This record gives sequence, C-alpha cells and structure tokens, in this order.
Amino acid sequence: MRKIEKRAVLCLIIALALIAGLGLFCFRFVTNAADWAAYPYNRHMYSNSGQLLSGTILDRDGDVLTEVKDGERVYYPDATVRRATVHAVGDGSGYIGTGALTAFADRLSGYNLITGGYSPLGSGRNLTLTLDAYLNVTAYNAMDGRQGTVGVYNYKTGDILCMVSTPSFDPENPPAASEAQDGIYLNRFLSSAQVPGSIFKTVTLTAALENLPDLKDRTFTCTGETTVGGTVITCPKPHGKMDIASAFANSCNGVFGALAAELGGDTMTKYVEQAGLTRRMSVDGIMTAAGHYDVSEADKGQIGWSGVGQYTDTVNPCNMMTYMGAIANGGTAAVPRLILDITTPSGIPTSWQRTEETDTLVQASTASQVKEMMKNNVAQTYGTDRFRGLDIGAKSGTAEVGGDKRPNAWFAGFLDDPEHPYAFIVLVENGGGGASVAGEIAATVLQACVDKF
Ligand SMILES: [Zn+2]
Repeated sequence: MRKIEKRAVLCLIIALALIAGLGLFCFRFVTNAADWAAYPYNRHMYSNSGQLLSGTILDRDGDVLTEVKDGERVYYPDATVRRATVHAVGDGSGYIGTGALTAFADRLSGYNLITGGYSPLGSGRNLTLTLDAYLNVTAYNAMDGRQGTVGVYNYKTGDILCMVSTPSFDPENPPAASEAQDGIYLNRFLSSAQVPGSIFKTVTLTAALENLPDLKDRTFTCTGETTVGGTVITCPKPHGKMDIASAFANSCNGVFGALAAELGGDTMTKYVEQAGLTRRMSVDGIMTAAGHYDVSEADKGQIGWSGVGQYTDTVNPCNMMTYMGAIANGGTAAVPRLILDITTPSGIPTSWQRTEETDTLVQASTASQVKEMMKNNVAQTYGTDRFRGLDIGAKSGTAEVGGDKRPNAWFAGFLDDPEHPYAFIVLVENGGGGASVAGEIAATVLQACVDKF
C-alpha cells in the first residue's frame, strides 16, 4: 500500500511539472514567438546569406532605404545615403545589432501568432523611421571622414531626425571582415560611452545652482591653475575675474573643479544619476550604453576633475542629447524614438507609436537657469554669427582622452524655438577643439534641419 502511495505522489509531481512546463512554454511562446521567428537561422524569413526577406524601411519623407526586390534585399540607390544611414537601417549580415533590420526584425516581418510570417495583406511591413535621410547625408558629409557621431532629435515628440555614426560602410558592398575598419559596426550614438569633458559642466552647474545659495553672488578668479585638495586643476589660459555665468561660458576648469569638490561626491553622484547619464535608456527597445560616474574612491582633487567631465567619467551621446532636451524643455523631455510608424504594404497601421516622457532630469527652475546660461555661452563665447537665425543654447567640450591622442571634440545643446524644438549632440573623436570643430558640424546640420522642417 505504501508503495502505491509513493508512486501516486511521484506521478502527481511529474504531472504538475509537465503542466508547469507547458504553462511556461505557452507564456514564452506568446511573449517571444516574434523574436524566435526573427532569428536569423529561420530559413522561412531569411535568405541563405542571412538577408531578412521581408519588410521595407523608409525615412520620414517616404524614401525607401531598403526593400526586398525579386527575392533580394536592396538598399537606396545612392552610396552616400547608404553610408549615412547604415547604422540606423542595419546591414544584411546583422553585424550592426542596433540597426533596424536586426533590432526591429520581428516588426518588419509582421510575424503574429495567428498567421505566423504569412500575411494575406502582403508580405512584411513598411517601417518608417523618424530619420530624414537628407539630414543624415548632411551630417555624414560634415563629419568629412572623421570618427564620431551626430544626433538631432525633437524633444517634444521624441523623433530622432538625424543619427549618424562614423566610420561607416556601404551595405551593398560591405568590407571583408579582415578589412573592416575598427568600430565600423558600432553605432556610437546609441552604443558608446565616451569621456565627456566640459559638456559635463552642465551637470555640475545644476548641482551648484541647487546646493550653493550664494552661487550667483560669488566672484571667481582664475589664474590658469587652481589647487583643489592638493591637486592642480589647469585651464588653457588664465580666465581672470568672473561670475558663474562667465565661468560657464569660459568653461573654466578651475571654477567647476572647485565647485564639484565643494559639493562633494555624494551630491555630484545624485545629480549625474538624476540627469539619466548613468542609466541605459530604451529607444524603441534598443538599449543605449550606460555612462559611468564613480567617485566612491576619489579624493578631493579627483572629484574636482570629475566635475569637469574627466577622471573616470563617460557618457552616452544619446543620453546626453536627451538631457539637453530636458534642459530646454523645463526639466523633462520626450524619450528619443526611431520608429515613426509601421503599416502593412497597403498602408494599414499595425502598431500605435506614442511619445513617452523622461523622468525629471533637472528641476524645472534649475533647467530654465541653465538654459539661459547655455544661450549666453553662444552669445559670449561661440559667436551668434556662426549660428545665424538659430535661437541656440550650447556647451562645448574638449575632452582629454589620455596618451598622446588628440582630445575628443563635443558640442551639445538645443534650439529654443517652438517651431524647431531640437536637441543635438556632436562628437568628433580625437577631433581637437569642441567649439570650433564640433560646433561647426552642429551649425551645418541644425541649419539644414531648420531649413527643411
Ligand atoms: Zn579658468
């Protein structure tokens, strides 16, 4: 009798395990089936060379960036357009993991649980990106063979209008793996984290404005060398006497290093985290790289250097651009997005794309003060002539990257223009001076944005 009882219990355990397993499978089937079907080894959806055999990707004007013709995936006829958009569109081999052909493969194939990959309304989906191919080409040409990234987005709607990463390649004629330039498959805008240098002073400024009540009454003096906790923080030249707005416009390392040390590591960390710079962010499901800010082991001098965007600081360009949008937009901004809409080939919408809002990245009253100071930077330092007709606020950065490499050139900011609510980021790796090199690219691309839209 005991034997039978034991066996009955065993049977019951096996039956329960079976039911649990079946339940888990059903759950995972419903939630993951589209991903499974989009797996590149699925020969129903991919050619032998690994090309996704359904789905068309368009830019926001309706220019077809890639489609399937006679069983082959083809790309835009012009090679420069292909090179300028390849990191957004993706490549046939799927080397660019964040490219739409890979990242949005499930949405391009139109896979669903009822009919699978087959659709009575036509094969695949038309996925329209928020990007404008012409702006991408403008940015790509402005980069002029240098390495880096350019991003522009609408901080009200989230639409990324321009997203270029260089070096690039032609997806029609991809380089052999052995000849591929270093970092060619990396979308620097979404997937890199880099030393920010002085664009990071915007974060230090927000912390100082909120925690040092007398900040605006202070007068600072820079002799070119400022000692912070026994460490000498240097400026390219003596900046002399100035208030906080001028120290920001002059990008005085001494002032911002001393402010960061005075605020302390915990306060600085709190503001960097609030700014969203140490978090990954989802851009239609593509996760950006997280930046880095860690002063837990730092002495006063190192906290000083961290406050001017050096030490071990890194930021992701897309997250930094979003933070710029929040400064312009009262403390929050639309989360960047790449998908404008998805329809069947006959134009019936199959998904609902909506604008999402970030958390509060900066307190509203602080955001408006930083915004005014960033506009003052252009008036006082960068020159309004270079940005004719643009109501622009910006911060440049010239980030030391170590060794004998030239510094990274950054230019980040926004347009304070209800008709053109754009935030932007430009990075030229080893490019030299931020305001001159990256600022010029920003001016060219923003002018094109405003002229076009
Ligand atoms: Zn200085």
